[in-house]
Amino acid sequence: MEPKVDWSLGRGGGAALLLLGGLLFTACTNVSPTPPSPKLQISIPAERPTFSSDSAYELIARQLAFGPRIPGTASHKRAGDWLVSTLRRWGARLYEHTGVYKGTPIRNIIASFGPEGGKRVILSAHWDSRPYADRDPSDQRAPVPGANDGASGVAILLEIARLLAQKPLPYPIDIILWDAEDLGQEGVEDSYCLGSQLWLSEPKPYPIQTYAWGIHLDMVGGRDATFLQEGHSRQYAPLLLEAIWTVAQRLGHQRYFVSLPGDPIIDDPFYLSARGGIPMVNIIQRDPMGKGFFPEWHTTRDDLSVIDKATLQAVGETLVAFLYAASPETFVPK
Ligand SMILES: [Zn+2]
Repeated sequence: MEPKVDWSLGRGGGAALLLLGGLLFTACTNVSPTPPSPKLQISIPAERPTFSSDSAYELIARQLAFGPRIPGTASHKRAGDWLVSTLRRWGARLYEHTGVYKGTPIRNIIASFGPEGGKRVILSAHWDSRPYADRDPSDQRAPVPGANDGASGVAILLEIARLLAQKPLPYPIDIILWDAEDLGQEGVEDSYCLGSQLWLSEPKPYPIQTYAWGIHLDMVGGRDATFLQEGHSRQYAPLLLEAIWTVAQRLGHQRYFVSLPGDPIIDDPFYLSARGGIPMVNIIQRDPMGKGFFPEWHTTRDDLSVIDKATLQAVGETLVAFLYAASPETFVPK
């Protein structure tokens, strides 16, 4: 993915806000936070499954053990086969959406849970890893291991799949693992997110109108990560965004889920929201001081050493609590 516009906080204002814990907002910035909605009522059920960051961490390690997950390679195929068999073992109905888009072979993996009928919810992440570490200081041609950029989101969704098998939700959920998100070139329009673009353009088992909303995870395992309120999410899914951040903060994760506006990112959820009409929230690491995603982004150092179980736990717990508090009919602007 790539940032669309770099219109982050005013530098001085940003520093002051950080000292205040990121929860306050003053007129010293040029953008506004999502205003609290008086209608927003969320009750988090006490009875909900327990997210395990130990399990999620292991699931990242398992993905990395296949090697880089570059579309068209043998290690990509082996990783994909393992994702399919793992999700199937946890009770999902599997659908593989394959094709060729802009010359790239695509394998989107879709795991359905819950009832067949009714409005559906999407949880997504990208499972491919970037073929070239073009931000690396010394070896720009080497592949990116993709521990945080890719595998972290997939691992959290796999762990949630395991929990859904233990305590099913009453509504349908599709876990969608997008392929070929990260082959793009910075500044080249629509060169990222090939898997989601192909999916939008083709017939599928559940028509696009059946999807009520969705949540996308990207770079959700980095040490001391901050998740700002991403620009397209604020535009297309403001209630959903506010509800997720509210749940995170009630669980004590305000250090990660910061109520400050982030810039818009061209990523899979952007295409689903803008072109598919599905309100999506993108939970993605972004530095409040305008320093980009995470320090090892698109380098050869995006390996297990950048992953912090505390971040995985904050994101996983928030997602579990939110899913068991929500329904496809809630948090969608009427
Ligand atoms: Zn990337």
